[in-house]
Amino acid sequence: MSLKSFIKKVLRLPLRTWLIFFVFVLTVAVLIGIGVKGNRAAKEPGGSSQLTDNNNKAGTGGAGNLNGTGQNEEKKPKEVIVVIDPGHGGEDWGTYNGNLFEKDINLDISLQLGKILDELGIKIVYTRDTDVFVDLVPRSDLANELDATLFISVHSNSMEDNSEYKGTETLYCPPPEDPKYSKMNGKKLAEIVQRELIKALGTVDNGIIERPNLSVLRRTKMPAVIAEIAYISNPSDRAKLADASFRKKAAKALANAVVKALDEMGAVKDENGVYIIMEE
Ligand SMILES: [Zn+2]
Repeated sequence: MSLKSFIKKVLRLPLRTWLIFFVFVLTVAVLIGIGVKGNRAAKEPGGSSQLTDNNNKAGTGGAGNLNGTGQNEEKKPKEVIVVIDPGHGGEDWGTYNGNLFEKDINLDISLQLGKILDELGIKIVYTRDTDVFVDLVPRSDLANELDATLFISVHSNSMEDNSEYKGTETLYCPPPEDPKYSKMNGKKLAEIVQRELIKALGTVDNGIIERPNLSVLRRTKMPAVIAEIAYISNPSDRAKLADASFRKKAAKALANAVVKALDEMGAVKDENGVYIIMEE
């Protein structure tokens, strides 16, 4: 019998045969459905987190994943890492006036900040800790590869055509609309950093400024800011930046801001005195 005549024969079957066939298919489908459901129900209450992981890897359907959410999903604690990014370095001086170079000011404040955080039990990683040139992209790449908790970039400012302009400002990239960033994001971090800097330094408050196109802010995946401590181009700000005690105050203020931000993110010290945070 050719395929064609077979199909013709099947199509010519009486209505009653079709109905019986249809009811049979329906019954089988319902039975399989109950079986799958029962299997799933039996697995879930006793299921370890490992099981859930395996199920997810095997690509269990959407309904299965939904059922699992909140029941077996385990948040793991991870060590807090703060990446400290001293702006410029090496042949890239940043802004300067006389023998006062931005790269040196940034490095000095950053190293002091790192020392304070380290003593508090917060793991820190520098994008540079000596006077060397580091390109912009490797700075954000480092933070992303480490899956860092926060990114703090330290700079000093300059306004070439207006030496009257002075003060402190904190830059951030508009945070993505993602519940992951509801507790902390670049903007919130900028607010905290700016508040602490103004409180400690008594400089003019230029506020927080949205800068969507700055490489280190745009490319970093964690809450990130650039703290512009003061203006080298302004005589009174310049005198402050040249003063070691002012730079120390700036480092302390940044450290306070980091601790406050980590606190808002729910980070805690573990039994070894090391800051940890629950993985999102
Ligand atoms: Zn700079």
